[in-house]
Amino acid sequence: LLGDDGKLRSTIFAEMSALAAATGAINLGQGFPDQDGPQEVLVAAQRAIASGMNQYPPGLGMPVLREAIAEHQERFYGIWVDPDREVLVTAGATEALAATILALADDGDEVVTLEPFYDSYAAMIGLSRATHRTVPLRAPRFLPDHDDLRAAVTDRTRLILINNPHNPTGAVLPRETLELIVELAHKHDAIVVTDEVYEHLIFDEPHIPIASLPGARERTVTISSGGKTFNTTGWKIGWITAPPELVTAIMAVKQFLTYVNGAPFQPAIAVGLQLPDTFFHELADDLRHKRDVLSAGLVAAGFSISQPKGGYFVVADAAGLGYPDSAEFCRALPELAGVAAIPLTSFVHEENRHEYRSLVRFAFCKRVEVLERASVQLERLA
Ligand code: PMP
Ligand code: GLN
Repeated sequence: LLGDDGKLRSTIFAEMSALAAATGAINLGQGFPDQDGPQEVLVAAQRAIASGMNQYPPGLGMPVLREAIAEHQERFYGIWVDPDREVLVTAGATEALAATILALADDGDEVVTLEPFYDSYAAMIGLSRATHRTVPLRAPRFLPDHDDLRAAVTDRTRLILINNPHNPTGAVLPRETLELIVELAHKHDAIVVTDEVYEHLIFDEPHIPIASLPGARERTVTISSGGKTFNTTGWKIGWITAPPELVTAIMAVKQFLTYVNGAPFQPAIAVGLQLPDTFFHELADDLRHKRDVLSAGLVAAGFSISQPKGGYFVVADAAGLGYPDSAEFCRALPELAGVAAIPLTSFVHEENRHEYRSLVRFAFCKRVEVLERASVQLERLA
């Protein structure tokens, strides 16, 4: 986690956001929206603060939020979870991931993830002292090969950690792949951990939570967060749903990470989870339009792109524009075009960087006029 000089290495997101701020570039790097979410949710947090909900909430999370999480799982996916024993509220999905990995993986265990992977996975697997094995997602579709999955999961595998829809590639895992993962977890007695923070940001098909497949629920930890769905990334309200014994194990770690978090934001996210279906559909429709605007802009600027099926991000190849090294390209891009982006090599292990060397991640969770302005500026690259 420290650089060769012993100094703290900031995450690529912080580094590129700082570069965007310093140069005045449009920040399509770090994934956060530039508009507020639903008024009902914002007002509910203000009311909670005004009504004195400002002390430590209960360890598992406020009952009103745990109930809303359970109801949401039932409404959208037909999954029934017990709000008192199978739900744990966390400080964002980040803490959910940290507590889950630290609680369940140990020295000598293996954790299998897809690669590219969200940056905190590798850091937390490292802290747990488990070994990180990966299954490659290759351009342009970024779906795992089933034989690669079969080869990666063995009796040493403790956790199969997936992210669906996937950051950074925008891939959505097909049902057959999810079925294979459940089958492998049974065969090798592994636990499935699924990061579904983009569950409602999916464009072409309904989201399939892996926990909804037969035989999955009893060995699956599902992680989500209010940040993406309600445009409240700064509130850091996340959650876990899992069988009671796994919730207890994860809670044992969580209580010493943050103990509890976000008292007034918890009832507000509960309000969000109870919004009518139309809210969730409009959210996806709006983001689909933004995806299409930025994708068209990137193509017009000379990139070749992989059209994402979910999430906040589109992956573009800069090789055709004469930029074969995405890390170098992303450092220069604010000067070249007044836009910031993230190199895909930041999401892979050093030894696999060559496969992703010219790929760049652009965020489209921004106002349409911002995406249009970025598109015009990117044409300077041609
Ligand atoms: N997992 C993935 C795949 C993410 O993209 C993010 C944040 N963008 C997180 C986890 C962290 O979520 P939170 O902000 O709720 O901690
Ligand atoms: N998850 C966001 C992204 O992928 C950023 C979160 C962070 O800065 N850690 O851009």
